[in-house]
Amino acid sequence: MEGEGTTMTESTSIDLDAIREKYRQERDRRIRPDGAGQYRRAAGEFGYYATDPYTEREERAPKTDRVEALVIGAGFGGLLTGAFLRDAGVESIRLMDEAGDVGGTWYWNRYPGVRCDIESYVYMPLLEETGAMPTERYATGEEIRQHAIRIARHYDLYRDTLFQTRATSLVWNEDETEWEVETDRGDRFRARYVITSSGTLTQPKLPGIPGIETFRGHTFHTSRWDYGYTGGSADGDLIGLHDKRVAVIGTGATGLQVIPHLAEHAKELYVLQRTPSTVDVRDNRPTDWEWATSLQPGWQRERMENFLQVLAGEPVDESLVTDGWTKTTSLQRHILSGSVDQGVSDEERERQDEIDDALTMERIRARVDEIVTDPATAEALKPWYRYMCKRPGFSDLYLQAFNRPNVTLVDTADFHGVTGMTENAVLVGDDAYEVDCVVFATGFETGVSGVVSGTLPVAGRDGVQLLQAWGRGPRTLHGFFTHGFPNLFQLGPMQNANSVNFVHILQEQAEHIAAIIARADADDARWVEPTAEAEAGWVQTVFATARDVSAFQAECTPGYYNGEGTQAITGLTYSPGPVDFHRLLREWRAGDMSDVLVRDDDDARLRQRDLAGVAS
Ligand code: NDP
Repeated sequence: MEGEGTTMTESTSIDLDAIREKYRQERDRRIRPDGAGQYRRAAGEFGYYATDPYTEREERAPKTDRVEALVIGAGFGGLLTGAFLRDAGVESIRLMDEAGDVGGTWYWNRYPGVRCDIESYVYMPLLEETGAMPTERYATGEEIRQHAIRIARHYDLYRDTLFQTRATSLVWNEDETEWEVETDRGDRFRARYVITSSGTLTQPKLPGIPGIETFRGHTFHTSRWDYGYTGGSADGDLIGLHDKRVAVIGTGATGLQVIPHLAEHAKELYVLQRTPSTVDVRDNRPTDWEWATSLQPGWQRERMENFLQVLAGEPVDESLVTDGWTKTTSLQRHILSGSVDQGVSDEERERQDEIDDALTMERIRARVDEIVTDPATAEALKPWYRYMCKRPGFSDLYLQAFNRPNVTLVDTADFHGVTGMTENAVLVGDDAYEVDCVVFATGFETGVSGVVSGTLPVAGRDGVQLLQAWGRGPRTLHGFFTHGFPNLFQLGPMQNANSVNFVHILQEQAEHIAAIIARADADDARWVEPTAEAEAGWVQTVFATARDVSAFQAECTPGYYNGEGTQAITGLTYSPGPVDFHRLLREWRAGDMSDVLVRDDDDARLRQRDLAGVAS
C-alpha cells in the first residue's frame, strides 16, 4: 500500500515522508543558535594555529618599484592568470602570496592522505602546456603542489614573486593610471593592473570549545600539519604517534582523508564526529600510460569541458569522466546551477530529484553497513540529510578505519559538538577522553577574500572604498570588475558561475581577464573599467536568473554550505550555469569590449567618469 509520501520504485520502497522527518530530526539536533559564531579565528591568542610550518620567514628589503601586473594569490587562480598574461606578452608580472611558495590550498594542506577529490586529469590545469601527466587518477597533494611549481617555472613566474607578504592597501592613482600598493612587509610599489585571486577557503578556523586554551597536550590544524611531532610525511608513516593517544575533531572532506592515517599509526584514536559525511566509492588507480600516450592534442580542454557539461546537465555524446560526481548530477543542481529538464513541471522534477536523492543516500548508508563491523558504530556513521547538504565525500579507506581496535568513534551530535577541553582531555557531555594530541580537522572560514571581507582596503577613483561602493552588496560586470575601480580584477565565485571543478572555473576566469588586458594594451586603452550601465545590467541579470535554494538549504543539517543553518547562501551565481556563462564570456570577448575599455579619445566615457566624480 502506498501512502502519500511513499514511492515505489522498481526494487525499493521509499517512504519520503519518513525520510523527510528523519532528516528534520537530525538537522534540529545539530542546529546551534550561535551559527557561524561558534567558531574562533586562528588569530590573536590562536594565531599560532595559522603560522606557516613549512617555510622559514625570510627578511628582505621593501619594494618601491613598478610592475605591469600584480597578481595577489599564488594558488592555481593566480598561477593561471600569470600563465595567460605571460602568453599574452605581459613581461612584468608579480605574484604575491602570504605563503612561502606557490600552490595556494596545496601549499597549506599537506596533511597525511591529502589528495585531489576531482579527477586529476581535469583538475590539474595546463597539463598539455607543461608536458605533465598525473601518475594517479586522484593525485596526491604533493604531486599537485609540484605541478603548481612546474607551472610557475614553465611560465617564468618566480622571477618577481613576493612570498610571505600580505597586501594591506590598494589606492588608485588616476593621474598615473596605476595602483599604489602597500604590504605588511613595508613595500610601497605601483602596478598598472591588479588581479586578486586570494581563495575562498584559506583561513583555518577552530571550534569555540570552552577550555580549548587550557589543553596542555599538542594541538594543530590539519592545514598546518606538524610533522615534527607526528613524524612521517603526507604518504603516512607517522611514527611519532605510535605511543600517542590522539583525538581528531572533524569528519568533513579533510577528516575523511586524514583519519585512515591517524588510525594506522596512533596508539589510540578518538574520532570526534558531529555530522557524518557521505562516503562513496573512490576507485583511485594509477594512470594507464597506454591511454595517456594515446591522447590527442587538445584532450585536456575537451575532457574538462565534458566534465563541466555533464555536471551542469548539458547533453553530451559520451561522458568522458565517469565517477562519483558524474553519477549524481541531478542531485547537484540544488547547489550548483545548470540546465534542468524543461519537459516536466517544477513539482515533478523536484519529486524525481528527491527520489533519486533518497536512493543515493540509501546506497551510501548501506555501504556503511557493508564495511563497518560494529553495528552501533555503523549506525552513527550514517549520514541523514540530502546529498548536496554537505560536500560529498569519497574514500575506500575511511569507513574501514573504524574496524581497527584502536579507533573509537565518539558521536557528539546530541551535544552540538565537543563540549569542552581540559588540561589533558576532550569532553563530550559527561565523558572525558584523555589524549596527548588534538588534531583540528575543522575547516576554513568561507568566502574571506581580503577585498570582500575588508581586510584589504581598496580605494578607487576619488578615494571611494570598494566596500562603500558596494554598500548593498557586490556590483560587478561578470563578477570580475567594478565601475569606479579601473584596472582591478577579481577571480572567484561571485556573480558568475561555479562548479565542483573550481580550478576549471578559475582557468576560464584567468583566460578572460588576460584577454581583456591584452586587448587593452593592444588598443592603447587608458584603462579597463566597466560602464555603470554594463555593471547594472549584469547585476540585474544575476538577480533575475538566480535560483532560490533557500528552501533546500533550510532543510539541511548545518554546515558552511548554509551558513551553519542560520542563513541561506543564495543569489550570488549566474544560474544558467557555467557552460552558458563561459559561452557568454567567449561571445563577449569576440566583441569590441567597448563597455570596459576606456581610450584617451573616449570623451563620453571620460565625461561619465568626471560626472561620477562630481556626484560623489
Ligand atoms: P569542513 O568545514 O567541511 O568540516 C569541518 C568538520 O569539523 C565537520 O565535520 C564539522 O562538523 C566538524 N566540527 C566543527 N566544529 C566542531 C565541533 N565543535 N565539534 C565537533 N566537530 C566539529 O572542513 P574540511 O577541511 O573537511 O573541508 C573543507 C572544504 O575543503 C571541503 O568542503 C572541500 O571543498 C575542500 N577540501 C577539498 C579536498 C579535495 O580533495 N579537493 C580535500 C579536503 C577538503 P559539522 O559537519 O557537524 O559542522
